[in-house]
Amino acid sequence: MRPVLRGDRPQTGDFANYRDAFGELVSRIGMFCSYCERRVATQLAVEHIQPKDGPYGHPDMERRWENFLLGCVNCNSTKGAKDVVLANLLLPDRDNTGAAYEYTMDGKIKLATGLTASQSTLAMNTLKLVGLDKPLNHVLDSNGQLVAIDRMSQRMEVWLIARASKDDLQANPNDAFRRQIARAATGHGFFSIWMTVFQDDSAVRKLLIKEFKGTAVDCFDPNTTHTISPRPANGLADGSKL
Ligand SMILES: [Zn+2]
Repeated sequence: MRPVLRGDRPQTGDFANYRDAFGELVSRIGMFCSYCERRVATQLAVEHIQPKDGPYGHPDMERRWENFLLGCVNCNSTKGAKDVVLANLLLPDRDNTGAAYEYTMDGKIKLATGLTASQSTLAMNTLKLVGLDKPLNHVLDSNGQLVAIDRMSQRMEVWLIARASKDDLQANPNDAFRRQIARAATGHGFFSIWMTVFQDDSAVRKLLIKEFKGTAVDCFDPNTTHTISPRPANGLADGSKL
């Protein structure tokens, strides 16, 4: 899960309406769901980390910048108005969620090896909160081809694209092509899949971190070969748990 840097409040005090923060959020962290990493061209919404209403609502956080991410319909609806206890979750704006998970070619997201038992619990809580552990929803078109309608099948589709890009780069390795791959990757989303496929190509990984707006650079070492954990503190509540 891409760690993001939302940055300081763009204005003094809270927003008049939380929806007013949408443009600034997109400008800071890109048109991607903060949880599933999809690029969402429409229906991306301001996501309240802690729900604004319901039995576990935090009305005081409804219009507060520090409580905002961007969420797709699936992640938003799965998360709903569930109780969100910051200390019990890993969150992409305050923890190094880039170190929490492994993305595999079958479209699955698994807990990273090497996490402590308590870190694993936090990482799993986050997966369940937004439903990223949901199984594949098989839908085939009239030619028997998988239609990527859910998040897992979309991940599988992007895996194939990223792998093909890597094969092409190996056949024709040059920096212009690397830049082209990184820019094209932002059109597909799924930052972590691209980072995984290009795990041995530091140059591409640096470009991915740069091109995916708002990626928290301090979560990666300068050579991008490993993640920095715990994430350096950034002043947000209950952060740096990983
Ligand atoms: Zn999502």
